[in-house]
Amino acid sequence: MKLQKTILITAAAQGIGYATVLRMANAGFQVIATDIDRSKLEALSHVENVHTAFLDVTNGTEIRDFVARQPAIDVLFNCAGIVHSGEVLTVSDEQLNQAWQLNVMSQVHLIQAVLPGMLSRREGCIINMSSVASSVKGVPNRCAYSISKAAVIGLTKSVAADYITQGVRCNAICPGTIETPSLQQRLSDTGDYDAARADFIRRQPMGRIGKPDEIADLVLYLSHATFTTGQIHNIDGGWSA
Ligand code: NAD
Repeated sequence: MKLQKTILITAAAQGIGYATVLRMANAGFQVIATDIDRSKLEALSHVENVHTAFLDVTNGTEIRDFVARQPAIDVLFNCAGIVHSGEVLTVSDEQLNQAWQLNVMSQVHLIQAVLPGMLSRREGCIINMSSVASSVKGVPNRCAYSISKAAVIGLTKSVAADYITQGVRCNAICPGTIETPSLQQRLSDTGDYDAARADFIRRQPMGRIGKPDEIADLVLYLSHATFTTGQIHNIDGGWSA
Protein backbone atom coordinates (compact mmCIF):
# COMPACT_ATOMS: atom_id res chain seq x y z
CA MET A 1 0.00 0.00 0.00
CA LYS A 2 1.22 3.49 -0.87
CA LEU A 3 1.82 5.42 2.36
CA GLN A 4 2.75 8.84 1.08
CA LYS A 5 0.03 10.71 -0.83
CA THR A 6 0.87 12.75 -3.91
CA ILE A 7 -0.53 16.19 -4.69
CA LEU A 8 -0.22 18.00 -8.02
CA ILE A 9 -0.29 21.79 -7.68
CA THR A 10 -0.49 24.30 -10.56
CA ALA A 11 0.79 27.88 -10.36
CA ALA A 12 3.17 26.74 -7.65
CA ALA A 13 5.97 29.24 -8.19
CA GLN A 14 4.52 32.10 -6.14
CA GLY A 15 1.61 33.28 -4.02
CA ILE A 16 -1.01 30.79 -2.83
CA GLY A 17 0.39 27.90 -4.89
CA TYR A 18 3.87 28.37 -3.43
CA ALA A 19 2.61 28.53 0.16
CA THR A 20 0.56 25.40 -0.46
CA VAL A 21 3.57 23.49 -1.79
CA LEU A 22 5.43 24.17 1.46
CA ARG A 23 2.43 23.34 3.66
CA MET A 24 1.67 20.05 1.90
CA ALA A 25 5.33 18.96 1.77
CA ASN A 26 5.61 19.72 5.47
CA ALA A 27 2.50 17.63 6.11
CA GLY A 28 4.20 14.64 4.47
CA PHE A 29 2.73 14.78 0.96
CA GLN A 30 4.82 14.13 -2.12
CA VAL A 31 4.33 17.40 -4.02
CA ILE A 32 4.51 17.89 -7.79
CA ALA A 33 4.90 21.66 -8.04
CA THR A 34 4.24 23.02 -11.54
CA ASP A 35 4.35 26.45 -13.15
CA ILE A 36 5.61 28.20 -16.30
CA ASP A 37 8.09 30.30 -14.31
CA ARG A 38 11.17 28.05 -14.20
CA SER A 39 13.36 30.49 -12.28
CA LYS A 40 10.88 30.95 -9.43
CA LEU A 41 10.20 27.19 -9.33
CA GLU A 42 13.93 26.76 -8.71
CA ALA A 43 13.41 28.09 -5.16
CA LEU A 44 11.37 24.94 -4.43
CA SER A 45 13.65 22.43 -6.08
CA HIS A 46 15.63 21.65 -2.94
CA VAL A 47 12.65 21.32 -0.60
CA GLU A 48 12.18 17.82 0.75
CA ASN A 49 9.22 15.94 -0.77
CA VAL A 50 8.92 18.47 -3.65
CA HIS A 51 9.45 17.74 -7.32
CA THR A 52 9.24 20.80 -9.61
CA ALA A 53 8.23 20.78 -13.27
CA PHE A 54 7.30 23.17 -16.08
CA LEU A 55 3.62 22.89 -17.02
CA ASP A 56 1.64 25.39 -19.07
CA VAL A 57 -1.94 24.76 -18.00
CA THR A 58 -3.35 26.39 -21.13
CA ASN A 59 -1.99 23.51 -23.21
CA GLY A 60 -4.36 20.54 -22.98
CA THR A 61 -2.02 18.15 -24.82
CA GLU A 62 0.89 19.08 -22.55
CA ILE A 63 -1.30 18.47 -19.49
CA ARG A 64 -2.36 15.02 -20.68
CA ASP A 65 1.21 13.97 -21.54
CA PHE A 66 2.58 15.40 -18.29
CA VAL A 67 0.06 13.63 -16.04
CA ALA A 68 0.68 10.33 -17.87
CA ARG A 69 4.36 10.54 -16.83
CA GLN A 70 3.57 11.15 -13.12
CA PRO A 71 2.98 8.71 -10.26
CA ALA A 72 -0.63 8.22 -9.10
CA ILE A 73 -2.07 11.60 -8.12
CA ASP A 74 -4.19 11.52 -4.97
CA VAL A 75 -4.94 15.25 -4.72
CA LEU A 76 -5.15 17.84 -7.49
CA PHE A 77 -4.99 21.53 -6.57
CA ASN A 78 -6.04 23.56 -9.61
CA CYS A 79 -4.58 26.88 -8.48
CA ALA A 80 -3.61 28.70 -11.71
CA GLY A 81 -5.62 31.78 -12.61
CA ILE A 82 -5.45 35.30 -13.98
CA VAL A 83 -7.21 38.53 -12.95
CA HIS A 84 -8.44 41.02 -15.53
CA SER A 85 -9.87 44.41 -14.60
CA GLY A 86 -12.89 45.78 -16.42
CA GLU A 87 -16.67 45.94 -16.62
CA VAL A 88 -18.97 44.30 -19.14
CA LEU A 89 -18.79 47.45 -21.33
CA THR A 90 -15.00 47.53 -21.38
CA VAL A 91 -13.95 43.88 -21.30
CA SER A 92 -12.54 42.58 -24.58
CA ASP A 93 -13.21 39.21 -26.19
CA GLU A 94 -9.50 38.54 -25.88
CA GLN A 95 -9.60 39.05 -22.10
CA LEU A 96 -12.71 36.90 -21.77
CA ASN A 97 -11.08 34.17 -23.82
CA GLN A 98 -7.85 34.33 -21.81
CA ALA A 99 -9.76 34.16 -18.52
CA TRP A 100 -11.77 31.22 -19.86
CA GLN A 101 -8.69 29.31 -20.98
CA LEU A 102 -6.53 29.92 -17.91
CA ASN A 103 -9.16 29.97 -15.17
CA VAL A 104 -11.59 27.34 -16.41
CA MET A 105 -10.35 25.15 -19.28
CA SER A 106 -7.04 24.48 -17.50
CA GLN A 107 -9.02 22.99 -14.61
CA VAL A 108 -11.23 20.96 -16.96
CA HIS A 109 -8.16 19.53 -18.73
CA LEU A 110 -6.34 18.71 -15.49
CA ILE A 111 -9.41 17.00 -14.07
CA GLN A 112 -9.81 15.00 -17.29
CA ALA A 113 -6.19 13.92 -16.99
CA VAL A 114 -6.16 12.84 -13.31
CA LEU A 115 -9.72 11.58 -12.86
CA PRO A 116 -9.43 8.18 -14.61
CA GLY A 117 -6.60 7.20 -12.22
CA MET A 118 -8.57 8.40 -9.19
CA LEU A 119 -11.63 6.45 -10.31
CA SER A 120 -9.63 3.29 -10.85
CA ARG A 121 -8.35 3.57 -7.24
CA ARG A 122 -11.82 4.72 -6.05
CA GLU A 123 -10.14 7.56 -4.17
CA GLY A 124 -9.25 11.12 -5.06
CA CYS A 125 -9.56 14.74 -4.05
CA ILE A 126 -9.84 17.69 -6.42
CA ILE A 127 -9.61 21.26 -5.15
CA ASN A 128 -10.44 24.05 -7.61
CA MET A 129 -9.42 27.66 -7.07
CA SER A 130 -12.39 29.98 -7.51
CA SER A 131 -12.86 33.34 -5.77
CA VAL A 132 -15.40 35.31 -3.79
CA ALA A 133 -15.60 37.38 -7.00
CA SER A 134 -17.79 34.81 -8.77
CA SER A 135 -21.36 33.70 -8.16
CA VAL A 136 -20.64 34.29 -4.45
CA LYS A 137 -20.40 38.08 -4.65
CA GLY A 138 -20.59 40.84 -7.24
CA VAL A 139 -17.26 42.68 -7.19
CA PRO A 140 -16.82 45.88 -9.22
CA ASN A 141 -14.38 45.92 -12.13
CA ARG A 142 -13.93 42.14 -12.27
CA CYS A 143 -16.23 41.08 -15.13
CA ALA A 144 -14.10 38.51 -17.01
CA TYR A 145 -12.68 37.19 -13.76
CA SER A 146 -16.07 36.77 -12.06
CA ILE A 147 -17.57 35.01 -15.09
CA SER A 148 -14.70 32.52 -15.14
CA LYS A 149 -14.60 31.95 -11.38
CA ALA A 150 -18.39 31.38 -11.31
CA ALA A 151 -17.81 28.73 -13.99
CA VAL A 152 -15.27 27.08 -11.69
CA ILE A 153 -18.02 26.70 -9.09
CA GLY A 154 -20.27 25.07 -11.71
CA LEU A 155 -17.42 22.76 -12.74
CA THR A 156 -16.78 21.83 -9.10
CA LYS A 157 -20.39 20.95 -8.37
CA SER A 158 -20.72 19.01 -11.62
CA VAL A 159 -17.64 16.87 -10.93
CA ALA A 160 -18.68 16.35 -7.29
CA ALA A 161 -22.15 15.18 -8.33
CA ASP A 162 -20.93 12.85 -11.08
CA TYR A 163 -18.37 10.97 -8.97
CA ILE A 164 -19.78 11.25 -5.45
CA THR A 165 -20.39 7.49 -5.21
CA GLN A 166 -17.01 6.57 -6.71
CA GLY A 167 -14.67 7.88 -4.04
CA VAL A 168 -13.71 11.18 -5.67
CA ARG A 169 -14.42 14.49 -3.93
CA CYS A 170 -14.33 17.90 -5.57
CA ASN A 171 -14.46 21.22 -3.70
CA ALA A 172 -13.86 24.87 -4.53
CA ILE A 173 -11.97 27.50 -2.57
CA CYS A 174 -13.17 31.11 -2.77
CA PRO A 175 -10.64 33.51 -1.26
CA GLY A 176 -11.13 37.20 -0.66
CA THR A 177 -8.08 39.42 -1.14
CA ILE A 178 -4.81 37.58 -0.45
CA GLU A 179 -1.29 39.03 -0.17
CA THR A 180 0.46 37.69 -3.28
CA PRO A 181 2.77 39.08 -5.98
CA SER A 182 -0.14 39.46 -8.40
CA LEU A 183 -2.05 41.49 -5.80
CA GLN A 184 1.00 43.73 -5.34
CA GLN A 185 1.05 44.22 -9.11
CA ARG A 186 -2.68 45.09 -9.24
CA LEU A 187 -2.20 47.63 -6.44
CA SER A 188 0.76 49.23 -8.24
CA ASP A 189 -1.11 49.26 -11.55
CA THR A 190 -3.79 51.54 -10.06
CA GLY A 191 -1.20 54.34 -9.94
CA ASP A 192 -1.88 54.98 -6.24
CA TYR A 193 -0.65 51.92 -4.34
CA ASP A 194 -1.45 53.20 -0.84
CA ALA A 195 -4.98 54.31 -1.66
CA ALA A 196 -5.72 51.06 -3.50
CA ARG A 197 -4.34 49.00 -0.61
CA ALA A 198 -6.43 50.94 1.90
CA ASP A 199 -9.46 50.37 -0.29
CA PHE A 200 -8.87 46.59 -0.44
CA ILE A 201 -8.40 46.44 3.33
CA ARG A 202 -11.55 48.51 3.95
CA ARG A 203 -13.75 45.93 2.23
CA GLN A 204 -12.45 43.10 4.47
CA PRO A 205 -14.45 43.18 7.74
CA MET A 206 -11.47 41.66 9.58
CA GLY A 207 -9.51 44.76 8.63
CA ARG A 208 -6.66 43.01 6.88
CA ILE A 209 -5.69 41.19 3.72
CA GLY A 210 -5.44 37.39 3.90
CA LYS A 211 -2.20 35.42 3.84
CA PRO A 212 -1.31 32.64 1.37
CA ASP A 213 -0.62 30.36 4.36
CA GLU A 214 -4.25 30.68 5.41
CA ILE A 215 -5.38 29.32 2.03
CA ALA A 216 -2.74 26.57 2.21
CA ASP A 217 -4.25 25.48 5.54
CA LEU A 218 -7.63 25.10 3.84
CA VAL A 219 -6.12 22.99 1.04
CA LEU A 220 -4.55 20.70 3.64
CA TYR A 221 -7.88 20.47 5.49
CA LEU A 222 -9.81 19.64 2.30
CA SER A 223 -7.29 16.98 1.34
CA HIS A 224 -8.28 15.14 4.54
CA ALA A 225 -11.96 16.18 4.80
CA THR A 226 -13.46 12.91 3.60
CA PHE A 227 -17.12 13.86 4.23
CA THR A 228 -16.99 17.09 2.20
CA THR A 229 -17.68 17.38 -1.51
CA GLY A 230 -19.30 19.83 -3.93
CA GLN A 231 -18.86 22.70 -1.48
CA ILE A 232 -17.81 26.29 -1.88
CA HIS A 233 -15.33 27.20 0.85
CA ASN A 234 -15.30 30.97 1.27
CA ILE A 235 -12.15 32.24 3.00
CA ASP A 236 -12.34 35.99 2.84
CA GLY A 237 -12.02 37.68 6.24
CA GLY A 238 -15.80 37.97 6.39
CA TRP A 239 -16.18 39.86 3.10
CA SER A 240 -19.10 37.67 2.01
CA ALA A 241 -20.53 37.20 5.51
P1 NAD B 1 -0.21 34.86 -8.62
O1 NAD B 1 -1.18 35.45 -9.59
O2 NAD B 1 0.64 35.76 -7.82
O3 NAD B 1 0.72 33.81 -9.40
C1 NAD B 1 0.20 33.10 -10.45
C2 NAD B 1 1.18 32.01 -10.87
O4 NAD B 1 0.59 31.39 -12.00
C3 NAD B 1 2.55 32.53 -11.30
O5 NAD B 1 3.57 31.78 -10.66
C4 NAD B 1 2.54 32.29 -12.81
O6 NAD B 1 3.82 32.00 -13.35
C5 NAD B 1 1.59 31.11 -12.92
N1 NAD B 1 1.00 30.97 -14.26
C6 NAD B 1 0.57 31.96 -15.06
N2 NAD B 1 0.15 31.45 -16.23
C7 NAD B 1 0.34 30.11 -16.14
C8 NAD B 1 0.12 29.03 -17.05
N3 NAD B 1 -0.37 29.24 -18.29
N4 NAD B 1 0.41 27.77 -16.64
C9 NAD B 1 0.91 27.56 -15.40
N5 NAD B 1 1.15 28.53 -14.51
C10 NAD B 1 0.87 29.80 -14.88
O7 NAD B 1 -0.98 33.83 -7.69
P2 NAD B 1 -2.11 34.08 -6.60
O8 NAD B 1 -2.46 35.53 -6.47
O9 NAD B 1 -1.69 33.29 -5.45
O10 NAD B 1 -3.39 33.40 -7.28
C11 NAD B 1 -3.50 32.00 -7.37
C12 NAD B 1 -4.96 31.65 -7.62
O11 NAD B 1 -5.75 32.17 -6.55
C13 NAD B 1 -5.53 32.23 -8.90
O12 NAD B 1 -6.41 31.29 -9.48
C14 NAD B 1 -6.31 33.43 -8.40
O13 NAD B 1 -7.39 33.78 -9.27
C15 NAD B 1 -6.83 32.91 -7.08
N6 NAD B 1 -7.22 33.98 -6.15
C16 NAD B 1 -6.28 34.88 -5.74
C17 NAD B 1 -6.67 35.91 -4.89
C18 NAD B 1 -5.70 36.95 -4.40
O14 NAD B 1 -6.14 37.95 -3.80
N7 NAD B 1 -4.41 36.78 -4.62
C19 NAD B 1 -8.02 35.98 -4.46
C20 NAD B 1 -8.91 35.03 -4.91
C21 NAD B 1 -8.50 34.02 -5.75
